[in-house]
Amino acid sequence: MSLLKSINISPPSDNPPTASAPFLVTALPTVLPPPSPQADELDKKSVLQGRFDRQRTARNLLPGERVAHCLWAVAPTASNVEVYCNRKQRRAFFRNLFCCGSVWLCPVCAARISEARRKELTAAINRKGVHVIHLCFTLQHHIHDDLRNLVDALMGAWGRFKAGASWQRLRDEYYWIGDIRALEPTHGENGWHPHLHVLMLTSRRLNMYEVESFTNAVKRRWIAKLGEFGRDASWEHGVHVRAGNRYAAEYISKFGREPKVNNGAVSGRWTAVHELTKSVVKVARHDGRTPWQLLDDYANGDPEAGRLFQEYAAVFKGRRQLEWSRGLKDLLRIGEASDEELAESPDSDSELLTTISRNEWYRLKQLGREFRAELLEVAAAGDVDALMEWLADRLEESAVRKRSG
Ligand SMILES: [Zn+2]
Repeated sequence: MSLLKSINISPPSDNPPTASAPFLVTALPTVLPPPSPQADELDKKSVLQGRFDRQRTARNLLPGERVAHCLWAVAPTASNVEVYCNRKQRRAFFRNLFCCGSVWLCPVCAARISEARRKELTAAINRKGVHVIHLCFTLQHHIHDDLRNLVDALMGAWGRFKAGASWQRLRDEYYWIGDIRALEPTHGENGWHPHLHVLMLTSRRLNMYEVESFTNAVKRRWIAKLGEFGRDASWEHGVHVRAGNRYAAEYISKFGREPKVNNGAVSGRWTAVHELTKSVVKVARHDGRTPWQLLDDYANGDPEAGRLFQEYAAVFKGRRQLEWSRGLKDLLRIGEASDEELAESPDSDSELLTTISRNEWYRLKQLGREFRAELLEVAAAGDVDALMEWLADRLEESAVRKRSG
C-alpha cells in the first residue's frame, strides 16, 4: 500500500493529539522565528506567510502528526491565546498555543530552531584555536531507491566510519578534537539524495599535504564502510572535503535556509518563485528539491510531491538533525538545548498586546484561509487599536462566511 493511501488525508480535527502522540500539557510560550538577516533582505510578509502556508500544507498531508496542531491548537490548560509584541525587534508571537518543535516536519518551528543552531555552530568554529574541515558524505542512489534504506545505509556507514581502533588512529593523526554532523535530504532527478555535512574540528591547521592525505584516507574509509551496507560511492563524489574555517562559516550561514535562486530571490518565497520562468526554477533545483519545496509543489498541484513529503516525514521523524561528538559541547562550553526547547524559548523583552478567547480563536480558524502570519504582522507594529480593529474585521468576516454557509 502506498503511503498516500495509508495516511488518511482528511482535515485535522481541532483537538490536539491524545494518548498516542504525547501532547504538551503546560501552556508554553510559542515564539515566532525572529527575522533572519536573509529574510530581512526580502519582504518579511512573504517569508512569514510562506512558513505558515507551508505548515498548513504539512498539516493537510500529516493530519495525525504534531505539526498538524502547531500554533493552531490552544494548549489544554489555557483559557485564551495571548499575543505578545517585542517593540524593539518589531516582532510578535503567540503564547498558550501548542508548539510541535519538529525541525523536520514543521517549517515554522524549523526556522526558529535553525536560527539557534546556527548561533551554536558559529560559536564552535569561532573558538580560539579551533580549525575546521567541512566534509560532505554521499552515497550512490537511483530513482527507485527507498528513502529509508538509503538513510539507514548512510547513518550505518557513518557510525562505522567513526568506530574502532583504525578511526582512533586516523583522528589522532589529524589533530581531531571533535565533529558535528548534519543530516540533510533532497529529492532530485535521481530520486532521494540523503547526505551528511560534517564539520571536523582540529587543534591545528592542516597543511596542503596533510589535507590531501586526510582526504584520501577519508574517501577510502567511507567507500569501505558503505560497502558493508551493500552501497557504494564514487571516488570523485563520495566525499567532498574543504579545509578552512571560511568554508565552514559559509556552510553554517546557509544552514536551515532555503537555497538561493540565481536572481537573488529565495525559493522559500514561493509567491516569487512560482512567477519565475521554469528554467530559473530548474537552476534553483539543480541540487534537488528540499522538503519545503516539495510542500510548495504539492500546494501547487503536484500530488507526487505530497507523497514524497509523506515518505520523508515517516523516515526522518525522530532522527537527530545535528549531532555533536561526545564531549565536544562541553569542551567548547556550548550549552545543551533540545529542538523543543529552542522552538519554545521565551522572549523576555516583550509585552502582552491582547488576548483572544478560545471561542474567538475557533472562529478565526473557520476563516478558511491562513490568518496567523497576518495577525502577527499587524501585532508586530505594536499598535493595539490597529490589532483590535483587525481582529474585529476578521471575526465579522468569519461570521459572514458562516451565515453564507
Ligand atoms: Zn511546529
